Amino acid sequence: MKKNPEIVVASGKGGTGKTTISSFLITFLWKKGLSVVGVDADVEAPDLVIALGDHREVSRETIIDSKVAVIDYNSCSNCGECYKACQFNAIEWVNKPIVIQELCEGCGVCSYVCPEKAIKMKLVETGDLIVYETKYAPIVTGELRIGRKHSGKLVEMLRERAGKIKNKGLVIIDAAAGTGCPVISSIVGADYLIIVVEPTPQSLRTAGKIADIGNFFNTAMGVVVNKYDLNPSFVQHVKKWANERKIEFLGQVPYDENVVRAYVNAKSLLEYAPNSPATKSLEKILNAWFEKLFEEEA
Ligand code: SF4
Ligand code: SF4
Repeated sequence: MKKNPEIVVASGKGGTGKTTISSFLITFLWKKGLSVVGVDADVEAPDLVIALGDHREVSRETIIDSKVAVIDYNSCSNCGECYKACQFNAIEWVNKPIVIQELCEGCGVCSYVCPEKAIKMKLVETGDLIVYETKYAPIVTGELRIGRKHSGKLVEMLRERAGKIKNKGLVIIDAAAGTGCPVISSIVGADYLIIVVEPTPQSLRTAGKIADIGNFFNTAMGVVVNKYDLNPSFVQHVKKWANERKIEFLGQVPYDENVVRAYVNAKSLLEYAPNSPATKSLEKILNAWFEKLFEEEA
């Protein structure tokens, strides 16, 4: 693996413990004395800094990169073509076409079909790009404006911004849950993908979609089963699944209330409960994974 790789932590569904593992990975690397930058790519609900405890905002910039349709009623002939053409139900008809900006995807189709050229596309704010300082690493994240859809593009910008941080070292990307555009933007070009699953068929099914994305981009992958002791026998299914897909089985982490307590107390798990079962398991998993990473690099 290349020096200072980009590692993505992803899961097909929310609530699997993805941010717990991302934040733990950051604290683990910090403890090893390595430079690391975190990217919270869940721009609709960022919470990586909360999982890392005390944090301070050091910069915020507004990103203006989205478009919405705007109608010039002086030119509009009320023909209804835009209303019929919009595939996102973003145009309502109340005696005339009205664009609901929160639903507008900015695709420009209405502007294209309008015979009077009465619709223009206007640039609007996508969201904010924010850099936080934490004890362990700078964290780059974003906040998407309500109704804006360009989360994939914003994630791309976050990664670019993380790449410009001085002495950045390794980059840990906490992807959004699911398999949508921001997740694809998190995985493309990354060096390693850690897939987090719970011991349930549904979690494994959605993890399969993440693995498909990883395969598509030829990304090396490993899987961690979180809260495995809620359904211990399921771990064998995950091992088989991983083996069939040539994904490394990295290990399993037990359910541990200290994870929630650390979050509630705004402390990193490593600091809040250094000897808890989850901490010990994660350290074991990450030590083995890390040694391999550096072995391959040597
Ligand atoms: S730009 Fe696209 S989504 Fe927005 S109103 Fe026009 S057709 Fe609908
Ligand atoms: S397509 Fe153009 S002219 Fe027709 S209703 Fe829409 S804005 Fe008006």
